[in-house]
Parts: sequence; structure tokens; C-alpha cells
Amino acid sequence: MFCEYDLHSHSTASDGTLAPRELVCRAANAGVRVLALTDHDTTAGIEEAQSAAADCDLVLIPGVEISVTWNKQTVHIVGLNVDPENRALQQGLREMRAFRDWRALAIAERLEKAGISDAYEGALAHSNGTLVSRTHFARYLVEQGVVSDERKVFKHYLVNGKPGFVPGQWAELAQALAWIHGAGGVAVVAHPARYRMTRSKLRRLFREFVELQGEAIEVVSGSHSRDDYFTMARHASDFGLLASAGSDFHSPDNPWIEFGQLPLLPDSCRPLWSEWAIDTARSNILKAV
Ligand code: AMP
Ligand code: MN
Ligand code: MN
Ligand code: MN
Repeated sequence: MFCEYDLHSHSTASDGTLAPRELVCRAANAGVRVLALTDHDTTAGIEEAQSAAADCDLVLIPGVEISVTWNKQTVHIVGLNVDPENRALQQGLREMRAFRDWRALAIAERLEKAGISDAYEGALAHSNGTLVSRTHFARYLVEQGVVSDERKVFKHYLVNGKPGFVPGQWAELAQALAWIHGAGGVAVVAHPARYRMTRSKLRRLFREFVELQGEAIEVVSGSHSRDDYFTMARHASDFGLLASAGSDFHSPDNPWIEFGQLPLLPDSCRPLWSEWAIDTARSNILKAV
């Protein structure tokens, strides 16, 4: 038994390696019935994903993963079932991408000083040309043989205190939730166990998130351990939050995060989708009840 809902994934519109159509087909073939495409700070892949979903009997939830700075730390908020046409959302996402463009040049400048040349062009070549992520820099450094794998690039070059790290200010938590809610979506704290926050700090995040009418947290995530599932399930019930599940799939090169392998949510959880009425035949959400 695995979870047929996978509400977190990435395509080439951000830092995934599969085009939206390939991504949707791969998920459908693995048995996923409801997939959310949640690219970082863009909804550019949604249209192609929607059309692919209609061809392979899969329900595609239009989503986005928004970068947020909370308490000087980067936190990701997933918006699900957002209207990609919403103007305020798109304006907000454009600002995020403008920061990314500036940051990419700044990262390359710092890497240059660390002896790595042409990193901007190299990262850009790994991207689809409209959004550059640290992941694209990681792929360039692996390709150049500087480091053997992407994780090591992050550890030695791209995180706080390392030569290619550029600090910055993403959206405020309240701002991200306003964009998501304004676009008719629901807000989900992505992979909460990954932030390495103390329990009290994490609970402060959840408290603020609830005050801002946030709806859910990811309990089951491709980057959570089994212990994390139960810890997060407990937090969800303490805060009256719904539970979500998502692989955070980026690439077939990451065999430990594959489609169709997410376990079911712990029994104590109220699944986010228990509030959805989904018509698989028509491939869309009819209503949120
Ligand atoms: P960015 O939003 O451009 O700062 O990049 C964040 C992305 O980098 C995340 O969404 C992950 O896909 C990836 N990432 C972050 N930390 C790591 C890590 N330690 N190893 C591999 N990928 C990572
Ligand atoms: Mn990513
Ligand atoms: Mn994330
Ligand atoms: Mn993600």
C-alpha cells in the first residue's frame, strides 16, 4: 500500500530534470493518481502538466513552492490548487525570480573567487533559462568534476559559511500565504523536519502559520524519516492542521525519492484531500468542501 496522492514535485520549469509532460507520465506509470506540480517560485510548467494529465488519467493539482524567509531562515511554503492566472500571485513570483537572477550572478562571482569559472553560464545551461536555482549550480560543479555529487556541492560550496553562499531575503511568511490564498489555494508547510529547527522554534512557526490561516503541513515527505512522520503527525493534530504527503521528486537520478513509494499517512492524520472532491474522469477538483 502506498499513498496515491503526491502533492510535491518539480519539473524543468524549476530545478527538476524532467519536462512537465515526462514528469506526469512517470508519476502516472508509478501509480500516482493525484499529483501536484510545485515548482519553486513559478507556475510555468502547469499548462503542459495539465495537458499531459488529461492524456494519462491522472489528476494534476496546480501548485507552487514559494521560498520564504522566516526568522532569518529559509522555509518553503507549498501552495496547492492555486489559480496560475492570478495576478498578485504572478507578480509575487516574478519578484522571487528577479531575486534569483540577481543571486545567481552573485553566486557565480563568489565561486569565481574560489577558483571556479563560468559558473553562471554553466548553471544557466542546466536550467531552462528562466529560473536559476542552487541545484543548477550543483549540477554544473558535478559536471566540471569539482565535486562528486550534488549533496557535496551544497555542503562544501552553497550553504551558509561556504564560498558560494549568498544570503538573501525571500518573501515574508504572511506575504506567501496572502498570495496563495488570494489565488484560491491552500497553504502547506513543506518538509518541516528538514529545517533542523528546535522543537520550540518549529512550534512557533506552526503557531504563526495557523494564525495566518495556513491549512496543512507535510507529514509524509520524501525527505522525512519514519520518525519524522510520527513527530509531524503529532504536531499536525496539536495545531489542528491537515496533513499532506509529497515526494519532492526532482529527478530519476535520485532513486531514493521515486514516485509511487510514499507510505500512507499515519492514522491519526486528517489528510488534506479529505476536504477535496475529485473527479478523476474529468481530471480536476470539483470543489473544496
Ligand atoms: P534554491 O531555492 O535555489 O536556494 O535551491 C534550493 C534547492 O536546492 C532545494 O529545493 C533542493 O532541491 C536543493 N537542495 C537544497 N539543499 C540540498 C542538499 N543538501 N543536497 C542536495 N540538494 C539540495
Ligand atoms: Mn528543489
Ligand atoms: Mn523545498
Ligand atoms: Mn520541493
